[in-house]
Amino acid sequence: MKVPFAEVDCSGNELKYVSEVLASGWLTTASKTHELERRFSEMTAAKHAIAVNSCTSALHLAVEALGIGPQDQVIVPTLTFTASAEVIRYMGADPLFVDIDPDTLTITPKILERTLQLHPNVKAVIVVHYGGQSAQMLSQAGQAGILEICKKYDVKVIEDAAHALPAHHQGQMVGNFGDITCFSFYANKTMTTGEGGMLLTSNDEIAHRARTMRLHGIDRDAWDRFTSNKPAWEYDVVAPGFKYNLPDLNAAVGLAQLERLEEFRAARQKIADFYRETLSIMPFVKSQQLIETSESHAWHIFPIIVDVVSAEQRNKLIEVLFERGIGTSVHYKPLHRTQYYQEKYQLKADNYPNADHYWARCLSLPIYSKMTIDQATTVCECLYAAYREL
Ligand SMILES: *Cc1c(COP(=O)(O)O)cnc(C)c1O
Repeated sequence: MKVPFAEVDCSGNELKYVSEVLASGWLTTASKTHELERRFSEMTAAKHAIAVNSCTSALHLAVEALGIGPQDQVIVPTLTFTASAEVIRYMGADPLFVDIDPDTLTITPKILERTLQLHPNVKAVIVVHYGGQSAQMLSQAGQAGILEICKKYDVKVIEDAAHALPAHHQGQMVGNFGDITCFSFYANKTMTTGEGGMLLTSNDEIAHRARTMRLHGIDRDAWDRFTSNKPAWEYDVVAPGFKYNLPDLNAAVGLAQLERLEEFRAARQKIADFYRETLSIMPFVKSQQLIETSESHAWHIFPIIVDVVSAEQRNKLIEVLFERGIGTSVHYKPLHRTQYYQEKYQLKADNYPNADHYWARCLSLPIYSKMTIDQATTVCECLYAAYREL
């Protein structure tokens, strides 16, 4: 491949910190994980940072800690990775899929309010900061933001921020807007631990529940309350919890990645800015509309909308680009089009016109911190040539 779709960069202190963990003889959750949690709490200003083994685990702990259960409805955009919705089903609750804004590709306060007017019993919303751009969480120019609308309808806010590390909204870092924010450290994300994730919250009760459920429902605090003299082996189990803790081996990689988070972001932004400028002269391409500056965007993916007549023609474009040595991807097949959700809830594509239109025409271009402007130039040239070949 001339330009692969993604590439990780582990050329910093990753090996050094992993060696320290191996030498320490303690490979699972310990000081490196606690250090990573401390840094995330500091960076986002969220009171509690709880490291877990994936963003999916963080999202599961989030809906569990909010007490979501059978018969409850949780709003989730149809344009997202399946993990955002599956955790709602883990709890026996039902996702209420909503369409996206066709330009910013996120849900908007308007979409949310319209949905809540029709479904006043919704318990929570999972906001996805699509591509790495924060949705409109705060109010602006007299227009209520997502948080204000959720407060009005007494709806909890979970942010699926798997794309949005590090992203900003009105000058504040994503990580402490809603009740809970979840980040992903999966291999292709903006920083990685191989597999991993982080749950952030400033609510003490949510944090206590998520910490307990992260490790088998073992509550050492509950035991502490009843004894002043606790032996180290003694504990109580307060719920059938999960096994979602992040090992120190992975946290070591995360600490090294975190040192370069802004460097990585700036490198991605350079590619994104180049793409935006170069593609602006190609009339058959539309880029994601920015809500704020390019600096506030995490640029996890660079999605474009191509003027094609069908999804088949878009697929052809992917093939032609691949033959020319350019890796691309599609994010995502909207969940209303996947077999499980479509059949279970009898979903109709007509109810999600924007996500549906986007899905047939979208393409994600390569973007990663190690990518060069020469490579981005090659991508643009190949895209232009490939489109003309259709
Ligand atoms: C990657 C991703 C997830 C899942 O992250 P894992 O760490 O792999 O569990 C969830 N939501 C979105 C939007 C993602 O892109």
